Amino acid sequence: EHARALIDEKTRRVPDFPEKGIIFQDLSPVLADGDGLASVVDGLIYGLGDVDLVGGIDARGFLIGGAVALRLGVGVLAIRKAGKLPPPTHRREYELEYGTASLELPADGMDLVGKRVLVVDDVLATGGTAIAAVDLLTDVGAEVVAVATIMELDGLGGHERVAKHLGGDIPVTC
Ligand code: IMP
Repeated sequence: EHARALIDEKTRRVPDFPEKGIIFQDLSPVLADGDGLASVVDGLIYGLGDVDLVGGIDARGFLIGGAVALRLGVGVLAIRKAGKLPPPTHRREYELEYGTASLELPADGMDLVGKRVLVVDDVLATGGTAIAAVDLLTDVGAEVVAVATIMELDGLGGHERVAKHLGGDIPVTC
């Protein structure tokens, strides 16, 4: 279909970044293109049920999340890398290939209890980041209704891992 072809055509593939052997998929040219961004947003919300809030994962998920939220008529929430938000925060650590990283949400000033949240990001790799985002939202009482990314890296099992973590009934699209 047209949207997928446009995304494929505009994605910049960078070998050996951030490490040797990895081909980094840079979606910047897709998002910088008006048709590309519209295609991405349409793809991410296709077939979705009711959503109260969009959670965008640091950092390209912020761009996508804002666009998706506006289209859905709901607000957007930045799911941030550790150390960016003022305290108090909720935090979840997750594994990287070497070491760990953390995501955070504000621990006061907003009520997320019972909010139906769509989690968005640009690329799903191992799924560790998305799972940390899901756990963080669950910690604050929100309900994750779907995890949607523009693209999945082949051969890492990310889709399966996230779907399993969500328990099977909650869609994971990429
Ligand atoms: P995961 O936790 O292994 O699934 O990695 C996903 C996170 O790393 C997402 O926030 C992505 O933005 C980022 N990421 C991993 N690989 C790529 C890539 O090839 N292109 C762009 N982002 C990537």
